[in-house]
Amino acid sequence: MATMVRPREVRGPAELLAESTRLASEVLRPAADGVDESRSFPRKALAQLGSEGVLGLMVPKDFGGAAAGLSEMAMVLEQLAQGCSSTAMVVLMHYCATAVLSTTAPPALKQSVLPAMVTGDHLSTLAFSELGSGGHFYFPVSQAQRQDGKVTLDAFKSFVTSAGEADSYIVSTRNPEATSAQESDLYFVPRSSTGIEIANTFQGLGLAGNASAAMQLSGVAIPHQNRLGAEKSGFNTMLSVVLPHFQIGSAAVSLGIAKAAFDQTVAHVSSRKYEHAGQSDLAHIPRVQFLIAEMAIELRSGRAYLFEAIRKAMAGDADAILDVLAAKAKAAEVSLAVVSRAMTLGGGKAFGRRGGLERLFRDAQASAVMAPSTDVLKDFIGKAALGLPLFG
Ligand SMILES: Cc1cc2nc3c(=O)[nH]c(=O)nc-3n(C[C@H](O)[C@H](O)[C@H](O)COP(=O)(O)OP(=O)(O)OC[C@H]3O[C@@H](n4cnc5c(N)ncnc54)[C@H](O)[C@@H]3O)c2cc1C
Repeated sequence: MATMVRPREVRGPAELLAESTRLASEVLRPAADGVDESRSFPRKALAQLGSEGVLGLMVPKDFGGAAAGLSEMAMVLEQLAQGCSSTAMVVLMHYCATAVLSTTAPPALKQSVLPAMVTGDHLSTLAFSELGSGGHFYFPVSQAQRQDGKVTLDAFKSFVTSAGEADSYIVSTRNPEATSAQESDLYFVPRSSTGIEIANTFQGLGLAGNASAAMQLSGVAIPHQNRLGAEKSGFNTMLSVVLPHFQIGSAAVSLGIAKAAFDQTVAHVSSRKYEHAGQSDLAHIPRVQFLIAEMAIELRSGRAYLFEAIRKAMAGDADAILDVLAAKAKAAEVSLAVVSRAMTLGGGKAFGRRGGLERLFRDAQASAVMAPSTDVLKDFIGKAALGLPLFG
């Protein structure tokens, strides 16, 4: 992303949250409908987020980032999603990739990539999902081969956010000597690697600007210094680093979408007046007040649960991961419930293509199927409650 500008100064998480709030309303929101309509990657918004340091939120301080925690990440993503959910999803994937690289990359790789991830000169993402295991992304079916001191990889990645747009992919695959799906590795794969082909045929219902596409890797040669962590540590990294970051970030994006829909609904019912009833507005109808209350309660409960899950994760509580998983499921459901209700209260205007709400309605659908999907999360939570093994 060569057009990026350097951040003026290193900023802390609180300043970056304030900056994200400003950019969400001044840059992301005005562009969001156009990004959706033209299905274009939000380069301008990303350039601004890079130049203000927001893309470096999760990068360690040694590399010029803000070294923020999960809580600050959630608050920033909530704000960005209120402006443009496609942009927020691209940023979430970049944050997940940042977390993996910060914890597992060899020192030379960290040095060459992380400072550029702060400024947006280097955008990264996760290429995990494969057709053979679907939403069970932690079980890749592809397997690397050893060849002349390198590994080579043939893999079909079924969905990748920022495909063809990111400068690198964090790719999962089975270790060359693996005998099970849990013996996997993660690799840093630059976009410039020979053998990467993007299938630009996916037309998502929502998040239309996040360049989600399938990706074919054919004989991609990966030097051993691009392996992230020890051999066969991929499964552990996906569970201990990627899962919490993605689940919390995804929940925050869902809640940001819901908040945007809620705010639009409040504005609509307060301004929509009936001539036949002496110019009284929808907000004065008791049933409308009741529905607005239900939306507000849903939003508050989703948010309260998300931050309780984060608190438990930061405190290292033994069962925190279950709350983290449940918080993503809850936020996805809150988002769907709030946005559907917003569509009803928005009447015919909301149903219209350019009414503002229908984009949020479409964007809100993604979280329920993004891995682990809401059903798979409930499968985990049910098994845990019953004392059954999560896998198998
Ligand atoms: C917009 C978008 C962006 C994405 N970006 C990325 C990305 O950047 N990187 C990446 O790696 N992936 C990405 N994905 C992929 C995503 O995370 C999931 O892997 C993908 O959506 C799963 O789709 P699938 O058709 O393979 O689902 P399937 O695995 O076929 O599952 C379909 C449904 O089956 C049911 N199901 C399956 N297993 C169970 C179970 N054990 N218990 C109960 N129900 C079950 C659930 O209802 C589930 O939703 C993206 C997906 C979308 C839609």
